Amino acid sequence: MNEKTCAVCDYPLDANAIQVTIGNRVVEVCCEECAEKLREASAKGSA
Ligand SMILES: [Zn+2]
Repeated sequence: MNEKTCAVCDYPLDANAIQVTIGNRVVEVCCEECAEKLREASAKGSA
């Protein structure tokens, strides 16, 4: 499967995908809400 999915909720990504840089990785999410969840998770020091 080549289709990318949201790193947070596994929703299939489309043209509206948002790239979020977490540490030295770039992940893609479906919406700003998921982007915020990723940023919060990384801010807690789980990386
Ligand atoms: Zn999502």
